[in-house]
Parts: sequence; structure tokens; C-alpha cells
Amino acid sequence: MLDTAPVRAFLDDTHMTLAERVSDFATRLLAPLAEPKDDAAARHQARELLAQLGTAGWFQPIRDQDWRACCIVREALAAASPLADAVFALQALGVVPMLLSSNDTMRKRWLDAAIQGRAMASFAMTEPEAGSDAASLGATAEPDGDGYLLSGTKTFISNAGIADFYTVFATTDRAKKDKGIGCFVVPADTPGVRLVRPLVLSSPHPLGEIAFQKARVPAECRLDGPGKDSSSASPRSIASAPPSAPPRAAWRRARSPRRWRMRSRAGSSGSRWPTSSSFKRSWLAWPPI
Ligand SMILES: Cc1cc2nc3c(=O)[nH]c(=O)nc-3n(C[C@H](O)[C@H](O)[C@H](O)COP(=O)(O)OP(=O)(O)OC[C@H]3O[C@@H](n4cnc5c(N)ncnc54)[C@H](O)[C@@H]3O)c2cc1C
Repeated sequence: MLDTAPVRAFLDDTHMTLAERVSDFATRLLAPLAEPKDDAAARHQARELLAQLGTAGWFQPIRDQDWRACCIVREALAAASPLADAVFALQALGVVPMLLSSNDTMRKRWLDAAIQGRAMASFAMTEPEAGSDAASLGATAEPDGDGYLLSGTKTFISNAGIADFYTVFATTDRAKKDKGIGCFVVPADTPGVRLVRPLVLSSPHPLGEIAFQKARVPAECRLDGPGKDSSSASPRSIASAPPSAPPRAAWRRARSPRRWRMRSRAGSSGSRWPTSSSFKRSWLAWPPI
């Protein structure tokens, strides 16, 4: 059973109930599954897990943007099946840009299907020459009539070859660097989208390289909206979007940790060790800058 004691102070009662339910599910239904013997078996099992998790409702915290609940679900799934955890993580990575955007068309097309485990998501940002430095990515999205032509190669893409849609980051204006990156939802069966090769790991995790060869998508597939470079779904705004919880005040503190830490020092009792509430405050001020 998931040990929530170390983080109990940060959880609501609903999270505690969720932890019990998801632990029970993972222990009974996922832990007994045999580890896939090869990459093909892992790909097959990933699709089965997607349906199983979706039917059981475990993707709902993604839709609710309840990140504490997402952590609880991931922790329980990972303890029983690392592959189930990967399926959950990728579903969130592929869907959150859609949730953060104002693009109702894409949400109508994919959201229910993804949350119910009928459509598998994938997140395509990394490239052979652009990993940590996402702003230097080379994939392009060229305007083409009422749509875009996507070109480039994405590597280390989880769910490559088995996903139903890829959430793809491509540059729309290289001169603007990170401000010129757009985010596109690309159906996997779009002509010009191709699995170049699977990348086989020693542990079961569907991974691969995807090529976009003048893959044409309609303008409505762009999440950050035409002409609005680096808006709602750019990597930077996803990273800085306010989470559902811990509550907004904690998020504000986390966004200006230096000021917060000075304030909390001024208010401290002078004790060498943090009180539980000052510890909690400094934890919420993570990451340090
Ligand atoms: C199992 C697996 C699944 C993945 N799934 C996906 C996916 O679904 N979608 C996707 O888009 N990507 C995915 N990735 C790619 C992953 O996100 C990248 O590996 C990551 O962004 C790092 O990029 P890189 O491997 O090119 O390393 P690099 O960027 O080359 O970095 C190499 C090392 O240098 C360090 N480094 C880099 N820049 C700096 C700097 N400025 N200062 C100090 N240190 C630095 C890094 O921390 C790292 O230790 C996956 C990777 C793996 C291994």
C-alpha cells in the first residue's frame, strides 16, 4: 500500500482515498502481470494498460490538472508496473498542452478519448540535436494555405509507433528562437508521419524515432494559435502554468523563492532547525534559484 505519511500535510482527504483505491487496483491487477519479454510485447501491453487505466478512471486527475493526485497515481502504478506508469506519464504529457490551450476543436477531438484510454498520446519534443536545449529544436512548421507542413525528426519519443496522436513542438519562426515555437496535435496516421525506427531499451518502454516529412496538418491542430508564437502551449508557459494545487499562494511563493525565503527568515523563531511549518514553506519554495 502506498505510504502517504511523509507527504500527508500536502494532501487532501480526497487524495488519501485516491491513494488507497489506486494502490488496491495496482496491487491486485497490475503487479501480477508478467513483464513483457521483448519490445513487441511491451508495445502490446502498453496499449492494453492504456485501456485498463482509462476504463478504471485513473487518467481523470490529468483532466482535472490535480498534480498531487497525478503523483499519487504514478507512485502506485510505478510500484506495480513501470510500464503502466510510463503510459500514465505520456498520457499526461500529450494531453496537458491541449488542456492549457484554448483550442476547443482539439479538445473535442482527443480529450475524452485520451482520458478514457481509447486514444494513446505521445509527446514529441526531443530531437537528435536538441535535448535539454529545447529552444534550439530544428523541426519546422511552415504555413501552407490553411494549414502547416511539419518537417523534422524527433528522437527518444515514448509511444512512438503505437500512439494515436503526437503533441509536436516545431519552430514557426527560427529568428524568434524559443518564442517562435508552436505546438501541434498531429494524428499518427497523417501522411508524412513515419516511425523511423524503434529504440529498444533493456526495460519495457516503447520508444522510437519519428520523422515528419512535410506532414500536412490543418491550422486547427495548432494549440498555441496561428500568429501567436510562444503562447499558451509553448514549453516555457507549460512549465510556468499555475498548478491546481498546492494552492495558488504556494505557487506564487514558488515563483519568487528568493523573496519568499527572505520573508520566511525574517519571520523565523531564530531556531537552528526549521519548524514544521517553516519546513513546509521552504519545501513549497522549491526549486531554489
Ligand atoms: C526513456 C526515455 C524516454 C523519453 N521520452 C521522451 C518523450 O516521450 N518525448 C520527448 O520529447 N523526449 C523524450 N525523451 C528525451 C529526454 O527528454 C531527453 O533525453 C532529455 O531532454 C535530455 O536530452 P539529451 O538526451 O539530448 O541530453 P543532452 O541535452 O545532450 O544532455 C546531456 C547531459 O548534459 C547535461 N546538460 C545539458 N545542457 C546543460 C547545461 N546547459 N548545463 C549543464 N548541464 C547540461 C544534461 O543534464 C545531461 O546530463 C526520453 C528519454 C528517455 C531516456
